[in-house]
Amino acid sequence: MKKILIVGGGTAGWLTAAKLARTLSANSPEGVQVTLVESSDIPTIGVGEGTWPTMRKTLASIGIDEATFLNRTDASFKQGTKFVNWHQPPINGVNHHYYHAFTSILDSAELNLTPYWYKYSEGQSYADTVSVQPALSEAGLSPKLITNRPYEGLQNYAYHLDAGKLVELLKEHAQQQLGVKHLIANVVQVHSDDTGIASVDTDNAGRLIADLYIDCTGFEALLIGKSLGVKFCSIKDQLLVDQAIAIQVPYESAEQDIASATISTAQSAGWIWDIGIQSRRGTGHVFCSDYMSSDEAESILRTYIGDEKGKLNAKHIKMNCGYREKFWHKNCVAVGLSAAFVEPLEASAIFLIEASANMIAELFPRNDRQMNRSAEKYNQSFHFRWQRTIDFIKMHYVLSKRQEPFWQANKLPKSIPQSLSLMLEDWHDRPVSKYDFEHVFEPFPQDSYQYVLNGMGFEVDALAYQFACHRDEVAKQCFAHVEQLKHKAQQQLQKNRQVLNAIRQYG
Ligand code: FAD
Repeated sequence: MKKILIVGGGTAGWLTAAKLARTLSANSPEGVQVTLVESSDIPTIGVGEGTWPTMRKTLASIGIDEATFLNRTDASFKQGTKFVNWHQPPINGVNHHYYHAFTSILDSAELNLTPYWYKYSEGQSYADTVSVQPALSEAGLSPKLITNRPYEGLQNYAYHLDAGKLVELLKEHAQQQLGVKHLIANVVQVHSDDTGIASVDTDNAGRLIADLYIDCTGFEALLIGKSLGVKFCSIKDQLLVDQAIAIQVPYESAEQDIASATISTAQSAGWIWDIGIQSRRGTGHVFCSDYMSSDEAESILRTYIGDEKGKLNAKHIKMNCGYREKFWHKNCVAVGLSAAFVEPLEASAIFLIEASANMIAELFPRNDRQMNRSAEKYNQSFHFRWQRTIDFIKMHYVLSKRQEPFWQANKLPKSIPQSLSLMLEDWHDRPVSKYDFEHVFEPFPQDSYQYVLNGMGFEVDALAYQFACHRDEVAKQCFAHVEQLKHKAQQQLQKNRQVLNAIRQYG
């Protein structure tokens, strides 16, 4: 196994190429050759601007330094997501919100603070009681100091970034530093046989043959779907949104604050994302076309950003939520949109691309025998990860008290995965437990569930919660510590933009 061919040069293609080249071929003249072929005619999806904290490790592992990354991709720091009006629509014009932050004062697996929050919070939100990050985000403060080492901060963080610029950086780095071979050509035909993909014909780079093929062709799924016929399992009956409209919004001034969290605001038939990077905001309205026309959705987004006259360009994107029956079939692995797509509410797609690249690199088959075993393990793992991602995202809709037809349809029992229904049923009667999250590759940890359940006012058996309190002193110390940290952080930390400007200036 010496040759890997990646077809497609979006975020999935270039991240996978960089990771595989770094792990399998860098520093070894005998190593694996990674080639990436991409079309210059078919654009990348061009969205995908929210990431998870894992991105720091991924970038460091492929040898990109943080200052270069921040400067080249206009990236900013993300400390979580602020969910606005998800629990209920605004009442008398007043919005409701809650945070899904990246860090809690104590890992829920060590001690679930929820029962103590019920007991002692005196009306303060769960997120504000267990984490300093909502307060920092509300104040637009950075999670790190200028003096912090690269990829380290006072608080856990991820990035908001320009998707197109990320691809350009990865492309340059993968070729110049990691030896990835780059071909620009359209794949016009894919040949398959008993072993899977036999070869790939292009319009101007001839016939390409490899030992392992990675399908990163986006929604096209040229290899895994069109050539190998691996079935796509739609989840349109569970996650109802099917379209998005994206608009990039300039800042009013070069010094405008950059938000430190993704802002997700619920709408009557979907939700709007609002992501601040250094040079602009990226916004988008994700909605269900059964309940809203795209004209109406665009008009709602334009009102949200204050562009009623329609001066800014809008990009319309059709979304097909679902996943492949197999992600790795014979000698072909699908990564990115060709493998699966779940709506972007929790920005899970790039995280799952990182996870895919890591797993392919570690299970890279050295011979044909190993190919099937690696494929089996990979498929099991990613079925689990995608299923749990679907459960987690669906939970946001199921817990909402909104009553518009779209939200009612989202709560119909037939639209709720059984795994989620069972968990919610259980959690009415007892606090969420670390034993609910035993799988090592659980995409969303217990903390994430607690933020959403508690933020959305999930109703629980109060008596069971009362019985769950055995370590009141520890919990009270944690809560007090959060308050001290809030005070200290407000004095210590600077605004996102100030830190980013300093990094831009001094590297
Ligand atoms: P693409 O970007 O579509 O790339 C496909 C590549 O295949 C292109 O290079 C194209 O040229 C090439 N190609 C196709 N056909 C051929 C051919 N015949 N020959 C040669 N090359 C070909 N993810 C997150 O993690 N966070 C987010 O905040 C987020 N927001 C999103 C919002 C929306 C509305 C959508 C739709 C997605 C979002 N995602 C998000 C998902 C994220 O955008 C994708 O997972 C990510 O960009 C990876 O895309 P890709 O590389 O698989 O596909």
